[in-house]
Amino acid sequence: MRGVFDTDEYRYPQEQVVLALTLLAGLAVLVVTAAVTFCISPVFVLLFILLAYLATRSHHQALMRAAYPVTPQSAPGLAQLAEQCVARLQPGPVQMYVVRSERLNAYTFGLENPKVVVLYSALLELMDADELRFIIGHELGHVRLGHTWLNSLVGGLAGIPSSSVVNAILTMALLWWNRMCEFSADRAGLLACGRPEKAITALVKLVAGPAGRTRAGLEMAYRQIDAEDDTWMGSLGEALSSHPMLIRRINELRRYAASPQYQRLQALVDQNLA
Ligand SMILES: [Zn+2]
Repeated sequence: MRGVFDTDEYRYPQEQVVLALTLLAGLAVLVVTAAVTFCISPVFVLLFILLAYLATRSHHQALMRAAYPVTPQSAPGLAQLAEQCVARLQPGPVQMYVVRSERLNAYTFGLENPKVVVLYSALLELMDADELRFIIGHELGHVRLGHTWLNSLVGGLAGIPSSSVVNAILTMALLWWNRMCEFSADRAGLLACGRPEKAITALVKLVAGPAGRTRAGLEMAYRQIDAEDDTWMGSLGEALSSHPMLIRRINELRRYAASPQYQRLQALVDQNLA
């Protein structure tokens, strides 16, 4: 029998370097503050992580009341589509939910298995099947690459009680790492859908909203996205954000889609469908 092809090779090259730098900076601050505060600060970090864990759990419970799980009974088409993404990317145990909302959003969370992927219902109305595969694959990429639990750990370090300058630096480093994670997750999304042009229209539709149903609406949103990196305000905004500018994400996707590494990986993850 043919084995299942499992990989995290699509991870964006700088992701781990930035994570290492962020962790080192966090640990350095931890050691210094521990010395100054007679070892209270490490306790604080643990407390912070525990709080994050409890917040995640209560968030999960609140979600269970408002959302419905994606199963072959509740949403046959979507369940099948999600299954294909899971088969391609092999993220480990995942449970998917749909929450009713006009907003175009999806996210993943969870420190324990199964990890939870939440899709907002507006996505289901706006995106076609391949665009949904990209969105779901993006979230599964976060799961596969460990971003969900790493975020709690790194977030805990960034919350070390220290001077405001040090906290600002740690927060900026955390955001920098978050942006690298987005590039990695976009690559997973592309591998889940296998169609670079659909990965890009999915991102453009996030800006276009319902207007993205028409070609003119898509083109207008694309022009808006394309102008984002033309101003220094745009660049400043990006440095303070957990997500890169969309135009950078689109350009990174194009670059990756044209690479031999992508072609090879796509062929391999596609075999998981057979
Ligand atoms: Zn993401």
